[in-house]
Amino acid sequence: MSAYQLSHAGVTVTGQVRLTNEDRFLAEGELIAVADGMGGHASGDLASRLAVETLQEVFAADTTAEGLARAVQAANQVIWERAEADPLVRGMGTTVAAAARVAIGGEERLAIANVGDSRAYRLREGRLERLSSDHSLVADLVRAGELTEDQARDHPNRNILTRALGVGPEIEAHLVDTDLARDDRLLLCSDGLFNELTDDEIVEVLGSVAGPDAAAAELVQRANDHGGHDNITAVVADIR
Ligand code: MN
Repeated sequence: MSAYQLSHAGVTVTGQVRLTNEDRFLAEGELIAVADGMGGHASGDLASRLAVETLQEVFAADTTAEGLARAVQAANQVIWERAEADPLVRGMGTTVAAAARVAIGGEERLAIANVGDSRAYRLREGRLERLSSDHSLVADLVRAGELTEDQARDHPNRNILTRALGVGPEIEAHLVDTDLARDDRLLLCSDGLFNELTDDEIVEVLGSVAGPDAAAAELVQRANDHGGHDNITAVVADIR
């Protein structure tokens, strides 16, 4: 018997510049995820699809925080092995941000995993917090005190990743778990969303638009209206 109800919805669009959409999302049961694929010959689409499918399958067999961590490792392995086996998709990879409601010590908690620069945010009592940690060149420079968040946002090399799923045989994900509270709102998104919207705009939408499907659609619409320079994906989940 769960103390909380989880409801979720996702929206993804190609945007106004790219020809194809290589983002993918999952919002099923206790698991939500966003993956942003990269690679030539449409292999980014394959990488993000393999990531989401493997996450879902492996997590379904073990719905714990450890299960989520293993699912991320499995996704890395599946993409890496496919890339090694097929020269046409060699070098493909994908980011991932995933969150799952899990039981830890008899308490319901939220487990979060990410690789690359897809993000997980939580809106709680009007405050937006980032639950994920970017694996990117500019994020390293921000952590080292060499760039501010605002400088990172406008940096020409902001899309250079330092980790991605599927580009090597091993991956170290960022893994955390946190408490759940009624009226928490979670957002998973690709960089095509947060590069177009300020934190204030994200707070404004998450704080005012009722229902995960309408909130996700509004966020994606606004990012697209601001230029849609990349594929845009948002998954919103409400805790009730
Ligand atoms: Mn992207």
